[in-house]
Amino acid sequence: MSDKKPATVAVRAGICTDTQFNAVVPPIYLTSTYSFPQMGEVPQYDYSRSGNPTRNMLAEALSELEGGAGGIVTNCGTSAINLLVSALLGPDDLIVAPHDCYGGTYRLFDSRARKGDFNVTFVDQGDPEALSAALARNPKLVWVETPSNPLLRVIDVAALCEKVKKVGALVAVDNTFLSPILQQPIALGADFVVHSTTKYINGHSDVVGGVLIAKEAEQAEELAWWANCIGATGAAFDAYLTLRGLRTLAPRMKTHEENSARILAYLQTQPLVGQIYHPSLTEHPGHEIALKQQHGFGSMLSFELDGSEQQLAEFVKTLKFFSLAESLGGTESLIAHPASMTHRAMSDEAQAEAGIKPSLLRLSVGLEDPDDLIADLDQAFTKAAEVKG
Ligand SMILES: *Cc1c(COP(=O)(O)O)cnc(C)c1O
Repeated sequence: MSDKKPATVAVRAGICTDTQFNAVVPPIYLTSTYSFPQMGEVPQYDYSRSGNPTRNMLAEALSELEGGAGGIVTNCGTSAINLLVSALLGPDDLIVAPHDCYGGTYRLFDSRARKGDFNVTFVDQGDPEALSAALARNPKLVWVETPSNPLLRVIDVAALCEKVKKVGALVAVDNTFLSPILQQPIALGADFVVHSTTKYINGHSDVVGGVLIAKEAEQAEELAWWANCIGATGAAFDAYLTLRGLRTLAPRMKTHEENSARILAYLQTQPLVGQIYHPSLTEHPGHEIALKQQHGFGSMLSFELDGSEQQLAEFVKTLKFFSLAESLGGTESLIAHPASMTHRAMSDEAQAEAGIKPSLLRLSVGLEDPDDLIADLDQAFTKAAEVKG
């Protein structure tokens, strides 16, 4: 583990490491290739698919933040996930994945399993019997996502890792929703951590990227070998922007959380708001676990709009400061309708089974002034209430 606090690691990543001009902010290396000092003498970097100083700086910072031994920065979160399963699994191996995992993860695991690359079973990991039954099948890898999307279900990572270790399997946690500021899965027993850095880590909705971090140096090296082999690594320019975003991760997460706490309190007073999903609520089933394993509750939240389809449409349309868009974790607030957007690939039955109702809305609370965000929600609820239900 790092001897520095996370905010310091994030801010100081690569600062004052330039030896040529003593630039305080590290330069970006956009080169694809590097010259050899002489024949037979291989330099530290030879080609940017296999290694790039800007990308490595980001990988080191993210690995340090997660308490890992090394990380690989990839061209998107999905390719970080694909990298791990490509490197780790063969046709006889089994992944145990959550039934409510990120849609792209579900599609990747399901499609590759259909091709015979590996086997997958999707289970409700919060159900001890379902989990035990899956673990009895001797999986190679257990995939965890906590809190989950869009219902913010929380999985006890330490308890799960203990069970998984008993069957000799590895655990990977998708930590995208909280970032290493609010949750560090390796300290809870995980072997790998994955992020879509597209979300909070870059935080400005202008880069698509990912990272895969390994607990053990040997695994990190093997994964780096595979990343070069299959061509999963990210671009230097993206790494530069992500490093820039990373520097403000800690204060951003704090403000995201403060804003969402204000919004949660406001939503609880609204007649058009039905069930609210957020781990900070004491009635949320994952509240106690979140208190124990997270350093904060995070700022993603979902709620059901207790009204007609027309009222929901009017509410969404009237909002000015919550843009109707997929993705999350940027400075700007977003609203998504999971049933028709992020989770539209799921059948109606699969949505119902996962608890995703047509009345569900998901907020990615941004960094605008919370007074403005609440005033905006308020005028939209007023407008929606005027629509005949
Ligand atoms: C967005 C996201 C991904 C996929 O990341 P991309 O950068 O879009 O490829 C994976 N997991 C979670 C939880 C996500 O939100």
